[in-house]
Amino acid sequence: MRGYRPLPETAKQGILPSTRSASSEYRQGEMAMKVSGRCHCGQISFEAEIDPTQVRICHCTDCQTLTGSAFRTTVPSLPGSFVLRSGIPKIYIKTAESGNRRAHAFCHECGTPVYAAAPVANPPSYGLRVGTLDRRAELRPTRQGWCRSALPWSMDLTGVKRFERQP
Ligand SMILES: [Zn+2]
Ligand SMILES: [Zn+2]
Repeated sequence: MRGYRPLPETAKQGILPSTRSASSEYRQGEMAMKVSGRCHCGQISFEAEIDPTQVRICHCTDCQTLTGSAFRTTVPSLPGSFVLRSGIPKIYIKTAESGNRRAHAFCHECGTPVYAAAPVANPPSYGLRVGTLDRRAELRPTRQGWCRSALPWSMDLTGVKRFERQP
């Protein structure tokens, strides 16, 4: 399939060997989970495989702004598994304080953020926005980063009044 290209961002988590069968048994961590995702208006849809133990939250201020919410929840696609099924996302290149550049993809029609990836032709992995995934209710985060900029209330919602529907 595709040649193995090391990527600094994912190197720490370990990358799959370049030989990977089409049916893809994910050996490294847990089993691979097949997911599909779509934006709110449905123009953009995609499929990918993920390791469901790799779901994480980011409390950085960029994620707060870019999501318009308190934090972002993301899961990386397994190398080579991401397939765009429909639509052409709009890309916004975000440059981090470190100088690291990420291509943020969102729907030009409804504005839903769908993924971020290295700004290269065939990025090996895509940071999928968990809220776009069909199986998101099964995806529980295992890590949260940038807690130093977390909105203080966002770490504990137990005291917030609950309603089954619109309050
Ligand atoms: Zn859309
Ligand atoms: Zn972030």
